[in-house]
Amino acid sequence: LPEQMSAALPVMDRLAAGGYEAVFVGGCVRDTLLGRAITDVDIASSAKPEQVMELFERTVPTGIQHGTVTVLHGEMAYEVTTFREESVYAKHRKPESVTFISSLEGDLLRRDLTFNAIALRSDGTVVDPFGGMDDLKNGIVRCVGHAETRYEEDALRMLRMIRFTAEFRFRPTFGTWKALLKQRELLKHIAMERVRMELDKMIAGSSPAIAFWLLARSGLLHHVKEPLPAAVVAVLDAAAAHPDRLGRHAEAIEAVDRLAELDDRWAALLIHMGLTLEEAAAAMKTLRFSGSRHTHAAGVLAVHQEALRLLGTAREPAKLRESWIGIVLRYGEATASCWLSMNEAGAISVERAAASRFKQWLNEMPVFSVKQLDINGRQLSERMDRKPGPWTGQWLERLLYEVACGQLANNRQRLLERAEIWNAEEG
Ligand code: ATP
Ligand code: MG
Repeated sequence: LPEQMSAALPVMDRLAAGGYEAVFVGGCVRDTLLGRAITDVDIASSAKPEQVMELFERTVPTGIQHGTVTVLHGEMAYEVTTFREESVYAKHRKPESVTFISSLEGDLLRRDLTFNAIALRSDGTVVDPFGGMDDLKNGIVRCVGHAETRYEEDALRMLRMIRFTAEFRFRPTFGTWKALLKQRELLKHIAMERVRMELDKMIAGSSPAIAFWLLARSGLLHHVKEPLPAAVVAVLDAAAAHPDRLGRHAEAIEAVDRLAELDDRWAALLIHMGLTLEEAAAAMKTLRFSGSRHTHAAGVLAVHQEALRLLGTAREPAKLRESWIGIVLRYGEATASCWLSMNEAGAISVERAAASRFKQWLNEMPVFSVKQLDINGRQLSERMDRKPGPWTGQWLERLLYEVACGQLANNRQRLLERAEIWNAEEG
């Protein structure tokens, strides 16, 4: 048993001593059987939420109406969920209310895939009514029960199926896949936030390229609630047209998993999809990216496009350097550095020599923002004897650029002298 699960044994024992059944269930059991690291420990129990809260001193009523209570034990938190069934699925998504039941088998029956419906008792016995262990061994993804019905109840399960298929590099059964093709338009009932969260897990996972290909082949993303930009759909269709490859996107998208950070992976994906800034922005908006995530990915994409344009126009090195410094200042050091490290990781490919020159030029820059200048807007306007206005910001930017390029020392006296020349020129 992994450490996180053995640490939870006292919680299981307490539930048992209270006269309730308690088992490990879900991802932690599945991942342990696969020999993978587990993320969180989920416990299912015949105890009702109030009964769980009576048994333990420190609890959080995380989702009482769904039967979930978080039990705090030592440094850890465990979600204890009452055995339940989900009788009514309104609008093809998770039910608002559930019925608590006393049978473990009944609880396993509501779960989506056979390998997600395996329970493990504290004495080590396994409860596996749907052959989940065999499916894990054989690398097979299979719905619990009638696949068409299970997707009809909750359309999000189609995305989960694809996620696990990619993550473990398994194969869905014929019926599990065919049912998805039949029910895929039901995805329109799922909120875009929840779609994005599943996509995030796919992109962050072990095989984002396989996930991308399965999404393309299934045509599932054609049926999201709010249509994705036509350019995104076109890339998916192009990938789907290749029977066992990603087509021209293959190698590029494969390389996305060389990046550690989820949002860098998204940025690389947007780059490889060949989207314009507008298309990428529209896609992220539709997928409800937060402002900061959007800014990061859009920034990296913009740096990439501008850097390529720059290299395409093949200017002399001095000009190339100055234009690159302009890009770094416009999008920020963090974004430009991120783009460079994505290149180094081999997740996007810009000519190696060019990328290393860009890197060197960036490392040589003495300043990256006007805040680092040895002068501010007030000092500038006092010395020029002009009222502060848009011009102050513009002049600071010009000074910043010259300092960043190494044409001007970052010294108040030098900066003011430079500004005085402009002042005289403007007369
Ligand atoms: P991970 O946490 O790695 O994403 P997980 O399998 O633990 O994987 P959770 O979303 O934490 O996924 O759900 C825990 C368990 O609840 C699943 O293993 C599955 O048994 C069940 N489950 C989750 N979502 C659904 C769903 N939409 N339909 C049916 N069962 C589900
Ligand atoms: Mg989980």
